[in-house]
Amino acid sequence: MMLKRLLILGGTGDASELAAMASNIPGLEVRVSLAGRTSQPGEVSGIVRIGGFGGIDGLVTYLQTEQIDLLIDTTHPFASQISWNAAAAVKEVKIPSLMLVRPAWEKDKNDNWIEVESVETAANILPSLAKRVFLTIGRQQLAPFANLDNIWFLMRAIDPPSPNTPLPQGKLLLARGPFSLEDEKKLLLEYEIDTIVSKNSGGGATYAKIIAARELGIKVVMVQRSAMPEAENTASVDGAITWLVDKLSIY
Ligand code: NAP
Repeated sequence: MMLKRLLILGGTGDASELAAMASNIPGLEVRVSLAGRTSQPGEVSGIVRIGGFGGIDGLVTYLQTEQIDLLIDTTHPFASQISWNAAAAVKEVKIPSLMLVRPAWEKDKNDNWIEVESVETAANILPSLAKRVFLTIGRQQLAPFANLDNIWFLMRAIDPPSPNTPLPQGKLLLARGPFSLEDEKKLLLEYEIDTIVSKNSGGGATYAKIIAARELGIKVVMVQRSAMPEAENTASVDGAITWLVDKLSIY
């Protein structure tokens, strides 16, 4: 059997899980690409490359020179640029591709969500509804909150923000999920949080804060996902493995 090469676009827990499972498929070589945003990425199976490709053209060149046969986009639902680039690049090089898209969280009847279209909109509406905010959107988009002087922020990210980023007033916690419901409730109570700002990331690793908010009657400003390319997709790592096995069987 000829060895086939899979490129996984990563940066999520799902990508690491997929890479570990795909590495056990005979006849498949697994490459994982990370953007390089976190200083110490978690353990990842396969051959890992780090850093941007240089837009669509750079990705096309990579797929061609590295002779990639299959691509699975397992990037975060809020990392839309790379997904659009990948969709355009695979079309150009004509290789099969799949998107692994975690379903968005659904609002429960006991949830008090204010759904907004962007992080900027979240920042604009906060002064009318919050005094003490748990800001859980990572470290890349903190600047829009920096001038909200009447709000205290508890911010959580894996790595510290870049040195020149304007930061909102408050406290920065450095931590990587998954987080437990008990710990999330403790945090919300300890810091007297009245509002959480979250992206609708989906998945289990960071869902505990949403349950904690529901149970404690805390508001959530939920940033909705933006449009993603139309592409073949699956909602789970198992679904991606089934797709892979199916694709490999026709070579
Ligand atoms: P983005 O806006 O979609 O991508 C910006 C640029 O970063 C891309 O154009 C690409 O550069 C490079 N890039 C992104 N993902 C890459 C990958 N897996 N491999 C190589 N290059 C990649 O992405 P982002 O929101 O900055 O997120 C960056 C990474 O963090 C993603 O891999 C994502 O899975 C992960 N992540 C993001 C979030 C979030 O909330 N955005 C949350 C958790 C994890 P070139 O154009 O030069 O190729």
